[in-house]
Amino acid sequence: MTPFETLVAIESRVRTCQLCALADTRKNAVPGAGRPDADIMLIGEGPGYHENEQGLPFVGAAGKLLDELLAAIGLNREDVYITNVLKCRPPGNRDPQPEEIDACRAYLDRQIELIDPAVIVTLGRFSMARWFPGARISTIHGQPMRIGARMVVPMFHPAAALHQPKYRPMLHHDFKQLPGFIAQLQAESGTEGVAEQPPEQLSLL
Ligand code: URA
Repeated sequence: MTPFETLVAIESRVRTCQLCALADTRKNAVPGAGRPDADIMLIGEGPGYHENEQGLPFVGAAGKLLDELLAAIGLNREDVYITNVLKCRPPGNRDPQPEEIDACRAYLDRQIELIDPAVIVTLGRFSMARWFPGARISTIHGQPMRIGARMVVPMFHPAAALHQPKYRPMLHHDFKQLPGFIAQLQAESGTEGVAEQPPEQLSLL
């Protein structure tokens, strides 16, 4: 199977997944959508009402803001890959439970492996926690962490900016940095030896 076929196979497995109790309450599982070879992968928390209805990620109000943020850097959702930590909606939009995150983890692991994005953007605290356990989003948002040839950039969840408008300019600011991060990674991969620079230069640590 090509990586693309494997990604499609994972998406169809997710649609019929029974690994946790969310399978009993979901209408549609939401595997993810976008370019299988995207440079940027965005990872949210989990489907909400509209996503559960349509089986697609970020199609409600938060998704509209996400579209605006992408458009501000000349991209649309077909240029990136969008998914979530949880592929099924927690009833009433409650927080994801640890056992649900664990049950879904292998799907996200495989999606990351297959898409192999240059940059992962975590949207909100549940996807942030995978790479930045215990961190505060208000302290670290917009600061990339280098993991091998990849950067992981924590950002506020767009829904947070809908509830609290003060987060909106921060989200715009953080998104505007993305093209520069990609250019930096591309320059490195095309320039022998540069990838061996000390990771501290780009790391949070
Ligand atoms: N919020 C999320 O975290 N993901 C979605 O897909 C929609 C809203």
